[in-house]
Amino acid sequence: MVIFVLQITLILTDIIHLLPDNIANQIAAGEVIQRPGSAVKELLENAVDAGADEIRLIINDAGKSLVQVIDNGKGMSETDARMAFERHATSKIKHIDDLFSIKTMGFRGEALASIAAVAQVELKTKRADDAAGTFIQIENSRVVLQEPVAVNTGTSIAMKNLFFNVPARRNFLKSNTAELRHILDEFIRVAMSFPDILFSLQSNGQEVFHLEKGSLKQRVVQILGNSYNAKLVSVQEETDYLNIMGFVGKPETAKKTRGDQYLFVNNRFIKSAYLNHAIMNAYSDLIPKDSFPMYALFIDLNPAKLDINVHPTKQEIKFEDDKIVYAFVQSAVKHALAQFSITPTLDFELDATIQQLDAVSKPVSDAQRTATTSSHLFKTFTQKGQAHFIEKSSDLKHWKDFYEPSAEKNEASSIDVNVSIQSMHQGYKAEQVMLQLHLSYIVMQTEAGYLLIHQQNAHERILYERYTVALSGKPIATQQSLFPTTITLSPADALLLDELLPDMQALGYQIEIFGKHTYVIQGTPADVQIGNEKAAIEKIMEQYKHFSSDLKFTKREKLLRSMAIQNAIKAGTALTQKEMQGLVQDLFACEVSNATATGRPTYTRFEKGEMDRMFGR
Ligand code: ADP
Ligand code: MG
Repeated sequence: MVIFVLQITLILTDIIHLLPDNIANQIAAGEVIQRPGSAVKELLENAVDAGADEIRLIINDAGKSLVQVIDNGKGMSETDARMAFERHATSKIKHIDDLFSIKTMGFRGEALASIAAVAQVELKTKRADDAAGTFIQIENSRVVLQEPVAVNTGTSIAMKNLFFNVPARRNFLKSNTAELRHILDEFIRVAMSFPDILFSLQSNGQEVFHLEKGSLKQRVVQILGNSYNAKLVSVQEETDYLNIMGFVGKPETAKKTRGDQYLFVNNRFIKSAYLNHAIMNAYSDLIPKDSFPMYALFIDLNPAKLDINVHPTKQEIKFEDDKIVYAFVQSAVKHALAQFSITPTLDFELDATIQQLDAVSKPVSDAQRTATTSSHLFKTFTQKGQAHFIEKSSDLKHWKDFYEPSAEKNEASSIDVNVSIQSMHQGYKAEQVMLQLHLSYIVMQTEAGYLLIHQQNAHERILYERYTVALSGKPIATQQSLFPTTITLSPADALLLDELLPDMQALGYQIEIFGKHTYVIQGTPADVQIGNEKAAIEKIMEQYKHFSSDLKFTKREKLLRSMAIQNAIKAGTALTQKEMQGLVQDLFACEVSNATATGRPTYTRFEKGEMDRMFGR
């Protein structure tokens, strides 16, 4: 009976109620502010919109404890300063029509309200004509303190202890390395699109970027590193429908990782697999299939030709006619590469609507074409298998020395097919003469049949285990460089190398910080060829970045894998008997010998019984 009454009560009670404001705000905020990097994007964009020409970003703890943006823009009045934190408070649109011609970065009036809902905020702001500025402190979307303050013209917004009031979200944040990466991405995207604004970034008290005002080219080089200096091709085309300007990297700068690719529409960074495809197509015959050219391209078109219903924090974009944009981007990049005289063939099959483009109406002259096809670069590209970035030969110096100790007993030195086959009849011995196939495989006879060993995969496994041992306490010996080389990296890469330095030390690299983003390579492991120190380090970092989206691995594991992959002898390398025997011996001395760390098999077994059956025996 009691139970019955209770049930009735439950059924009759209304269950819908309004969420308290602070919870509603927190939920709404989650869409805009997902991580410190999102706040960085919003605050930098606000500073740009405020007309600043100097913007400083300060972060602590990968933005988890502090994200602060200081600008010298137009500042806010006392009332505006308070209003700015209300949801849907914006100075950027007044009429619905404004939506179709929006030129500023933000316009929904959500960013500051969202930040105020999930962090502690301190704002200082002053307009040029005001005698005093305004200081406002906010917590849980409520103003806890407001008072006049003496400050320079402009605005400083500090976001402290992100998600202090939403522990579940705070726990959801990734490692500092991962969050820092997001912050750098956002910072670079904004800094790249406004070269006439000074940007600086300070992380944990250390200045990581200081980007002086300058040309777009200077900005690109400042951000991506000096190695792009003199390696950029300018892209510039103008039509009634849209314009494109910016830079693409010469083909030889293409990398194995996608990293340095930036596309902006109306100065806003966007991601577009479709347009990326257009650019890749323009490079099609110029770079190896699995490599990525650098680009920083800016497309400008009438905002009315864009779908504005896409959420502003999302980076996808919809064009009214994306085929025109595709064809335009592709031809503009091809044209630029052709003018730089390296495009072997120029076949523009374009949409009729953009036929009037210069790139289309004025194809390269015969003289240009001849110059192009006879150039050294062109020949390199057209020679089959000349994947110039992925080197066939490794950086190892006489890598047979590597195996000398384990192969000393053996006298055989030359590869002679007859000899190898003969010796294989004699059954397995450690010193058996081995056969190399296609400069990639080693055939080794066993009692039950034979093994086909993939030399590169095998060496990757061996090095991986050797490096693992080195990192667990037995450091690899360093070969001191007679003439230490310096290496200058992009600020982002420098940050990465700083992190890897202690582990690289244990792996035989002696690298010292020399100046801003510059390092001296004092020594390398003995197997790195003299003169190749710099390239070896660059490749390890490239490979590392390749793995870096894989969050399940530790920094150390990624480094181990990167070094093993980069330093392994490549398929296509001729091996002597000693080398093959050393390799096989080392492979089977490994803890795990049948696969690389990344899971590729190192060898396959062929059974004699099966072979006999094949031949009816
Ligand atoms: P939105 O940028 O979409 O308008 P925000 O929440 O980011 O919305 O900012 C709200 C308003 O606060 C802006 O429209 C602008 O008027 C003002 N504001 C924000 N940041 C700054 C700044 N750094 N300098 C001057 N005004 C600012
Ligand atoms: Mg904004």
